[in-house]
Amino acid sequence: MKQSIRYLLWVLFATLWTTVCFILPDFTGSPMDGFYGTLHITAYIAVCGFGTFLILYIIGCSRYLSAVILPVWSLVGAVLSFYRIGYHATLTPVLLDVVLHTNTEEALGVLSWQLMVWVVFNLFVAGLLIWFRWRTIRLPYAWVHGLVLLALWASVFFGFRRVHNSLCQRYPYNVPYTIHEYIVLQHSMDAPREMPNYTVIEQPDSLTIVLVLGEAVRADHLQLNGYERETTPRLNVRTNLVSLPHIYTDKTHTSVSLPDILTRGDSLHAERVYTETSFISVLNEAQYHTAWISNQDMGPMFAHFVAESDTAMFANADKSVFVFSQWLDEELLPLMENAFVTRPKRVCYVLHTIGSHWYYDNHVPTDKYFFRPTTTNRVVTANTVEQVVNSYDNTIRYMDAFVDSVIASLVDEKALLIYQSDHGEALGENGMFLHANGAEVAMNPACMIWYSDRFKEAYPDKIKALISNKDKRYRTDYVFYSILYAAGIEAEGDCPQMNIFRE
Ligand SMILES: [Zn+2]
Repeated sequence: MKQSIRYLLWVLFATLWTTVCFILPDFTGSPMDGFYGTLHITAYIAVCGFGTFLILYIIGCSRYLSAVILPVWSLVGAVLSFYRIGYHATLTPVLLDVVLHTNTEEALGVLSWQLMVWVVFNLFVAGLLIWFRWRTIRLPYAWVHGLVLLALWASVFFGFRRVHNSLCQRYPYNVPYTIHEYIVLQHSMDAPREMPNYTVIEQPDSLTIVLVLGEAVRADHLQLNGYERETTPRLNVRTNLVSLPHIYTDKTHTSVSLPDILTRGDSLHAERVYTETSFISVLNEAQYHTAWISNQDMGPMFAHFVAESDTAMFANADKSVFVFSQWLDEELLPLMENAFVTRPKRVCYVLHTIGSHWYYDNHVPTDKYFFRPTTTNRVVTANTVEQVVNSYDNTIRYMDAFVDSVIASLVDEKALLIYQSDHGEALGENGMFLHANGAEVAMNPACMIWYSDRFKEAYPDKIKALISNKDKRYRTDYVFYSILYAAGIEAEGDCPQMNIFRE
């Protein structure tokens, strides 16, 4: 009995160490104003602590197992928590990919003495724990303890979806979870897909096409579309800019809405999002250079399209929605500029923005908060609707400045910019917030098209059609056919109902 209590204390100490050193750092910077917010975070950390306790109890039942696992546990935990505190970086599948493709010189560049001290300290704690386990604890019927706790762990981990999802984002669960996600991504990238049939109608001597994939930007919050607040002051005065307020999608989640935008997949041919390539492969084959420049993570549903691009760049590979620090779309601009040594004659950039993703305030520079008061709590419902809408509208205003900057870099070229948000966002309607919840307001994403004077001179018919189509209703499926048509390519299945540049 005494040995069992001694063992329990050992597990509790190991849990406390892991929680304080490796789990708590993950919550630094979390906005949690007020009682409800504090309670929520405390409960979350307690769940993570409990999940850790169960794992450590199982590992510790075997002296041998603990001697093998605890040093690795301590090393990985120390490295991840160090970069989480110092650089607001978290483990993501894309970061894992970057790390796996880093050369020795780059790897040495991110090492520091502070990291070494932190690693040595935690290895020392792990060493102490192993020593105590070997020298002072003889757990009777250890295998019974192990089996009982394993059953308890499995029923908690697989029995409660919310607990499962929460744990998978936190140490130590996030390590195997991210590795699994990474493998799924690689598999998705490598899976063979068929390219749709197409005909090259004409090959422009030069053309720059930019597709800006917006995030959770709803059409009715654009001043351009009659919204009463000044959310698009810069685009409002841009010439050659057309807003299409009636674009719809029934997919209100990034990972399922993007394939509809990028491939020939639509409601009648849903299977194409799994079996066909995106327009990027068609452009590559038609002598265009393509670049995917992203400020988001990758999802297995669209990883293949990223891999189709000639070059893929990630501005914030080390950020997830669980990191609460500045994460701005303007970081995409230098990447776009440097994607190719010299800008190719025919080129298409896909800019995947973080846009209006929750937590809104993180995606706007603090000196650009225009509507106030803004949110103060990471739990959306712990804020007032006024706060949520203010923070959301600040992201739209920041998008306005970002898109305007991209346009400014294109004015002298023969260029076209298509801005299409992946879906909209609920802002308290019927008690609903965010997206992926079936809210109707999330099904009407913002869409804008800008063309340069040189583009208009070269293709007056396309611009004439665009202007006459601007108030028509389209599904986001229009992007695939329209972008190729703008590039001088007619894809199989192209028709005026699917193409904003045709009458
Ligand atoms: Zn999205």
